[in-house]
Amino acid sequence: MAQKRSGTGPTVVLVGRPNVGKSTLFNRITGSRRAIVTPVAGTTRDTIAQPAEWQGTPFSLVDTGGMFGASGDPLHELVIEHGRRAIASADVVVFVVDGREGLVSADEEIAAALRGVKASVVMAVNKTDDRRARGRALEFYRLGFEPVIEMAAEHGDGVGDLLDEIVHRFPTGRRDGHQSAPEPETAIAIVGRPNVGKSSLLNRLLRAERSIVSDLPGTTRDTVDAILKWHKRTFRILDTAGIRRPGRVARSGQVESISVIVARRAIEKADVAVLVIDSVEGATDQDAAIAGEADKTGCGVIIAANKWDLMKERGADFVKEFDGKLRRQLKFLDYAPLLHLSALTGERTPRLLETIDKVAEARNRRIPTSELNRFVQAVTAVHPPASPGRREVRILYAAQTAVAPPTFVFFTNVATSFHFSYERFLVNRLRESFGLAGTPIRLHVRRREK
Ligand code: GDP
Repeated sequence: MAQKRSGTGPTVVLVGRPNVGKSTLFNRITGSRRAIVTPVAGTTRDTIAQPAEWQGTPFSLVDTGGMFGASGDPLHELVIEHGRRAIASADVVVFVVDGREGLVSADEEIAAALRGVKASVVMAVNKTDDRRARGRALEFYRLGFEPVIEMAAEHGDGVGDLLDEIVHRFPTGRRDGHQSAPEPETAIAIVGRPNVGKSSLLNRLLRAERSIVSDLPGTTRDTVDAILKWHKRTFRILDTAGIRRPGRVARSGQVESISVIVARRAIEKADVAVLVIDSVEGATDQDAAIAGEADKTGCGVIIAANKWDLMKERGADFVKEFDGKLRRQLKFLDYAPLLHLSALTGERTPRLLETIDKVAEARNRRIPTSELNRFVQAVTAVHPPASPGRREVRILYAAQTAVAPPTFVFFTNVATSFHFSYERFLVNRLRESFGLAGTPIRLHVRRREK
């Protein structure tokens, strides 16, 4: 049977060895039952195409059937020829693998065949609902295709994410009927102790020349968010009602915990937290507690030393001493940019917006696997991990498994963890090498499965 081209929109081709679940995925996406799903290797013999659609974007989905893997089928050559043609004309290739079985040599062969194709390749690790698949999905990062999407075609988990990614990769001219996605908003929490100048800062930002202000209801009745347009960005400042509410609690004993609780609530929803400090008073334990919340939730952080108008003309030595002390007090926020500003005079408040934008970008950055592995080679050549046991510990490769915050997995031959000082070293080097300022970085170590 010849491959049918429906002619609607871009072409997406499913590729993978037999029984990884291509047909199930095909049926799930097209809502059809064309491909025969049976557990016998190579049963989807024909390359078939069906029209499909995701969020208003039509495309044509092609299953290459049993073109990869052994097949006793006399029509095998024909199947291969059809499949090859389908791949050559594809806009996006979905490379489907079996998370339950992990990476096998046939996958490596397919990967090699796909490396030369001009289509964009998305990797889909199927059957991840199975407990045996747990952790194995990570092995596939080694093949160098990105992103690696974990899913379960049978139940539909992760299929939406896969489709988002597929549509995202369509050549722009081919995204028929698809509105280009709006710029994502950056949610900002302005946090800090009472009287440090949070609401003054908020007002200052909202008054800034390039901002358009509109108050929007937040998620609960007593929270109000403000939308601030800055250049092409949209910043949502969370819970402005909470920021503006003056003298929340009078009794000093309680004030402490309340601003931490308020901060935590805002931080949980934020991409970037601006921790406002009163420069005259310096940081306190409570500031450290709020900073800890940001670090724990994986939110980006900027330290705003406010009321700097009162600290001026004290000389460079003073600034150095001030910064040193603040850094010691907020030790685990060593990655957070520190700005000296004044909500009163507006000095350096434009810089704050720029910095927020940079941190938000860093927090969502995806480092290509190839760059990451060049990094691994360069770093381990000079500083290999310590080998406490009999076998030498080697980092084999690394992959970024998530953004917001950037999360990395380092695969080793034997070790399942590094000494914390080495982990810290890697995090710092990642930060330097890839410019990940202001965002927490998560790092995991895994032993490569045999
Ligand atoms: P919040 O409780 O953190 O929201 O603090 P407010 O914004 O209400 O500010 C507390 C006090 O500090 C007010 O009297 C402000 O006028 C003052 N303040 C805020 N920012 C600055 C600043 O940059 N410089 C100076 N000198 N005073 C400031």
